[in-house]
Amino acid sequence: MDTTLTVTAPAADVVIMSGGPRTPRRDGANRVWRARIPAARDVSVAVGPFHVSDTVVDGVALRVGSYTTASRNTLMPIFARAIRELSARFGRYPFASLSIARVPGSQGGGIEYPASIQMQSESVTDAVHETAHQWFYAMVGNSQALHPWLDEAFAEYAERLVDARPEAASWLSYRGDVDRSIESYGTDSYDYFNVTYAKGAAALEAARTAAGRSGWDRVMRCYVAANAWQIAVPADFARAITQFPAAIAILRRAGALR
Ligand SMILES: [Zn+2]
Repeated sequence: MDTTLTVTAPAADVVIMSGGPRTPRRDGANRVWRARIPAARDVSVAVGPFHVSDTVVDGVALRVGSYTTASRNTLMPIFARAIRELSARFGRYPFASLSIARVPGSQGGGIEYPASIQMQSESVTDAVHETAHQWFYAMVGNSQALHPWLDEAFAEYAERLVDARPEAASWLSYRGDVDRSIESYGTDSYDYFNVTYAKGAAALEAARTAAGRSGWDRVMRCYVAANAWQIAVPADFARAITQFPAAIAILRRAGALR
């Protein structure tokens, strides 16, 4: 949806949200922040005493805010690198801006929104993973309920590709089909992470090796371009890789494709 956000916040606070507003309008004791994002599945709005830094990475306005300057300064180059590395592999970053809100808390990880990410760590791998969701989730959409592997296995795969940190191939023999609904895991969140993320990423890596890396990487970019701004299903991915029967066989054995 073409979305315009208007947020009124106390003047001392900073708003970090999808669409990357930079210059708020003063309104009495408040400031009014306005942003537009032309294609958004959902949005993030974070408000607080953020220390903010801005830069431009390959034409993308990158804003990083954290509740400490040290954390902000750690995260800035990490996200700049993530945009560059992922663009090189999957095609242009999908939005005009990326706004990072490092929120208090130390549980780790982060959560992705179109053109915005909320982080709970300074981890390089978490940052690459969440940035990869800008391609797999925010641009190439999917049902996170029915086919969560189409965003999570792909983000995990991208994260490991960027840092040359392959998933253990032993995940391929872990029980359970990769293409399963979230509901099917019940309360077993470990199983969800093991199958949807780890086994799914291991299957994509094995498929890449079987297909030949450079051909596979080109086809992956075609899949992204062909399914941009739509909701993809596993059959769309299968259609994109028909020229790689060995890779399809691996993904079928893993239960990712039918
Ligand atoms: Zn994820």
